[in-house]
Amino acid sequence: MHSIAINDAHCYISGKFTKACVGIDGSSITRISKEKLEGEITFSGEDLILIPAFFNAHTHAAMTLLRGIAEDLELSSWLKNVWRVERKLGKKEIYWGTMLGIVEMIKSGIAGFSDLYIHMDEVARAVGESGVKAVLCYGMADRGDQEKAKKELEIGEKFIKDWNNAYEGRIKAIYGPHAPYTCTPEFLEIVKERADELNTMSHIHVSETEWEVNEIKSRYGKTPIRLLDSIGFLDGNVVIAHAVWVDDEELEILRKRKVSVVHNPASNMKLSSGIARVREMIEMGINVALGTDGAASNNSYNMFFEMKTASLCQKIKYMRADAVRAEDVFRMATENAYSAYGMKGGKIEEGYPADIAILSKSASFHPAYNPLYSIVYSASGEEVQHLIVNGQIVMEDREILTFDEEKVLRKVESLKEEIT
Ligand SMILES: [Zn+2]
Repeated sequence: MHSIAINDAHCYISGKFTKACVGIDGSSITRISKEKLEGEITFSGEDLILIPAFFNAHTHAAMTLLRGIAEDLELSSWLKNVWRVERKLGKKEIYWGTMLGIVEMIKSGIAGFSDLYIHMDEVARAVGESGVKAVLCYGMADRGDQEKAKKELEIGEKFIKDWNNAYEGRIKAIYGPHAPYTCTPEFLEIVKERADELNTMSHIHVSETEWEVNEIKSRYGKTPIRLLDSIGFLDGNVVIAHAVWVDDEELEILRKRKVSVVHNPASNMKLSSGIARVREMIEMGINVALGTDGAASNNSYNMFFEMKTASLCQKIKYMRADAVRAEDVFRMATENAYSAYGMKGGKIEEGYPADIAILSKSASFHPAYNPLYSIVYSASGEEVQHLIVNGQIVMEDREILTFDEEKVLRKVESLKEEIT
C-alpha cells in the first residue's frame, strides 16, 4: 500500500508518454509499474496526464505586488519605477505578495521556484506554509559602499544559516548578489569565497541588457562574464539569470566553468532587453533552465506560457522552426532547473522526489497525438488538476489544500493602497 497511487495515467517517462501507474511514499516516487497500485489516496483515469512538476528557476515572487505599476518601459526606466515602490515594501507585504505568487505557481503546476529578493525570512515562511519548494537568496547589493557591503553580507549569510534545509529540506538557501552593476568586483570576490567556505551556491543577474554590458565595460574594461571569470566567481555552483548579451568567447567561458543559465524569455522581451542565444547554449552543452522573472516584468508565473514563449522566440531569432523544440523547453522547465541548483528532481523515476503535476485534457489537447505538444504549445495551465510536492498533495481538483487562497487575494487587495 503506497501513501499515494496514480493509476493508468499517461506518464511522461524518459522523454515519452506511456501508460503507467506511479506509487508515492514519503517524499519520493517509490514505484512505477504497468500493474495497478494500491494507495491510501488514489488518482486514476485514462484521461489523466502525469508530468514532473515545473521548477521556476528565476523569480522575485513578491513582485506580484508591483504587477502593472511600470508598463511598456525598458529595463533602466522600469527599474527606477520599481525601486521607488520596492522601498515601501515591508515584511507583511513581502509575505502576502509571495503567497500570491505561490497561488499562481501552484495553479500552473510549479512545485518550486528560485527567489532572489528582500525580507527573505517572510518568503521562507510562505514557502514553508504553502508546501512548495524553493531555492532562496537575499538579494545583496553593495553599490561601492564598504559599510553596506558588510551589512548586506551579514544579512545574506544569516539567512542561509537560519533557513537552509528548513521544512523537511524544502528550502535551499544560497547567496544572491544582485548583479555586476550593483555589486563591486571586490564584494563579489568576498561572496564567492564565503559561498565556497559554506559549500553553498550563488545566484546572480548577468548581462541582461546591452546597457549593462557597456556600463561594466566602461567601469572595469571588461564585459560582465569576463569580469566575473577574472575574479574566479564562475563555476558549477553559480547560476546566472539572463545572459542575453554574451559573445562567443563568453559562451565558451560559461561552458568551461559549468555555469547554469536561466532563460527568462517573457521578461527579456517585455523590457526589450533582447533574446538570449539559447539554441547555441544548448548545442554547446550549457545547462539552460527556464524562469519567469518577477511579475512586474512578465506579468504572470506560468511555465506553460514561458515554455511556448521560449520556443517561439528562438525560432524567430534563428529563423529555424527546430531552433528550440518542445522537448528542449520542457526539459528547461523541469530537470534542467533542478540540476542547475544541484537538486534531484524534474523526472518521473523511482527514487526521484514526488513533485508531480496531474493534468486533465482541455479541448485544445484533442486530438491527443502527443500530449507533449499540447503541453508546450496549447496548454494554458488550467489543465493542472492536482499538484503533489515532496509527496504532499498541495492542490486537489484545483483547490489549494495547504492555505486559504481567497484570504491571500483579499490581503493583497487590502495592501494595494499603501503600496501605491
Ligand atoms: Zn530577475
